[in-house]
Amino acid sequence: MLRLPPEAHGLGMTSQRARDRLIERLATPRPEDRRKPITDRRVLDVMRRLPRHMFIEDALASRAYEDDALPIGRAQTISQPWVVARMTEALIEHAMPKKVLEIGTGSGYQAALLAALVGQVYTIERIDELLRNARRRFRKLGIENIRSKNVDGKLGWAEHAPYDAIMVTAAGEALPAELFDQLAPTGVLVAPVGKPGAQKLLRYRLIEKESGAMWVGESLGDVSFVPLLSGLD
Ligand code: SAH
Repeated sequence: MLRLPPEAHGLGMTSQRARDRLIERLATPRPEDRRKPITDRRVLDVMRRLPRHMFIEDALASRAYEDDALPIGRAQTISQPWVVARMTEALIEHAMPKKVLEIGTGSGYQAALLAALVGQVYTIERIDELLRNARRRFRKLGIENIRSKNVDGKLGWAEHAPYDAIMVTAAGEALPAELFDQLAPTGVLVAPVGKPGAQKLLRYRLIEKESGAMWVGESLGDVSFVPLLSGLD
């Protein structure tokens, strides 16, 4: 259940109107935005309700409903709303997953969005301080279907595998084999892959070939993410 915060403090840009404007821009981009409209109503409807300003510091709250990535401390960012919407749309396009693993909790915004759409979300973050902040936000919003852990996400979270879907929200030059091992055969994995400045958003699905089944990645366009790092911090 997504418990919505009182909008009494919704001065100007933290208000429902600011959120509505952002959703409109995602659904109907301007020509200068040069990108695909977000068409999945389920994603747009949750983003219209989800208070992004609660996932960033108060000092930046006035910018919460601009379509930009914003700093969340420790050199990390909350992803740009369009990218969050696009990744989520790609993840649920063919079937609504029941159980999702997210790598890179960060602010917790993406996990909260997924939690409003799917049955159970597992999310892992290597920086404990960020994870603690994210958990506080989940509690405040009354979100009860997210389990989280402070581990290196490159290893996945084997205990709860297989997952119907895995979303990676930091970019590696290659995807760890462990993640595919933990994905159901009907599953989908969405991840940014590549070097800084040359990353593509990829969606992997298992495709039957004459030589056997293999995970094949389809490009959903160019993106820019913080790096997928190893170990804890
Ligand atoms: N999904 C987040 C985006 C955060 S940015 C949000 O909605 O706000 C990516 C996050 O991935 C950062 O917090 C970073 O610390 C984390 N990260 C990077 N490498 C990681 C790894 N190997 N395991 C877990 N988290 C990782």
